[in-house]
Amino acid sequence: MQPYALDLRSHILSIPNYPKPGIVFRDVTTLFADAAAFRLAIDGLIEPFAKGEVDLVAGIEARGFIIGGAMADRLGAGFVPIRKKGKLPRETVSVSYALEYGSDEIEMHRDAVAAEQRVLLVDDLIATGGTAKAAVTLLRRLGADIVGASVIVDLPDLGGAARLEELGLTVRSLVTFDGH
Ligand code: AMP
Repeated sequence: MQPYALDLRSHILSIPNYPKPGIVFRDVTTLFADAAAFRLAIDGLIEPFAKGEVDLVAGIEARGFIIGGAMADRLGAGFVPIRKKGKLPRETVSVSYALEYGSDEIEMHRDAVAAEQRVLLVDDLIATGGTAKAAVTLLRRLGADIVGASVIVDLPDLGGAARLEELGLTVRSLVTFDGH
């Protein structure tokens, strides 16, 4: 059992059949709404890193912004957003990735990361890892030195964390749930 799992698990609601039949949506907005649980989650996510070890936290839209902003402040790092297509006002780089049905695309500003900056990738949850893998491609294209990927929830049966580890990344999570 991970050290933070017991306290945090009870603050995550599981919504069956959302957004479609067969998916259990793990809702972390209830965790964000509880001051002590949110603090504990941020404590757990920043724990492996010393201040000054991370230059930038890169958060994936949208829940990754909430977690990543708080982490960046605590780590003394900057924050850069990884957004869905069409939301960023300046020159972007983008990567598309396959979904179960169709595809999606994420973008960053071309100047968001300078070569060899140490970047920590953050999202609320990793499932198949498709989104995070696309984010790794984007960050590496910009020359980032990715120091790890951090999520509150991992769904290990879907293999996302293992896929990121195959790319040479260390993945840290605070809570795991079996199945989808
Ligand atoms: P994936 O690309 O399959 O790893 O999916 C990860 C992204 O989709 C994250 O940004 C999550 O917020 C969201 N997501 C996927 N599955 C779930 C789930 N069961 N509950 C909540 N969010 C999910």
